[in-house]
Amino acid sequence: MRIEYDRDTCIGMFQCVAEWDAFERDSDAGKAVLADSEERTEGTFVREVPDDAELDAKFAARACPVDAIAVYDDDGEQVV
Ligand code: SF4
Repeated sequence: MRIEYDRDTCIGMFQCVAEWDAFERDSDAGKAVLADSEERTEGTFVREVPDDAELDAKFAARACPVDAIAVYDDDGEQVV
């Protein structure tokens, strides 16, 4: 499972931080930070989701009010 986080879209509501600890709070920037991610294109950060964190990652994506987080299964299908 893979997660994508669009930092440009993020408005810093921090619901994701409460759902998965890979999302950290950058209060100065008013944006979340996705730990251990790579910046794939400008402002878009991606990383693999460990098996034991899949539920948390999906909850984080669902919690985001502006859909800045998307989750894809191993076939590349978007699941959240
Ligand atoms: S829930 Fe969405 S808007 Fe809020 S900090 Fe996380 S990514 Fe940003």
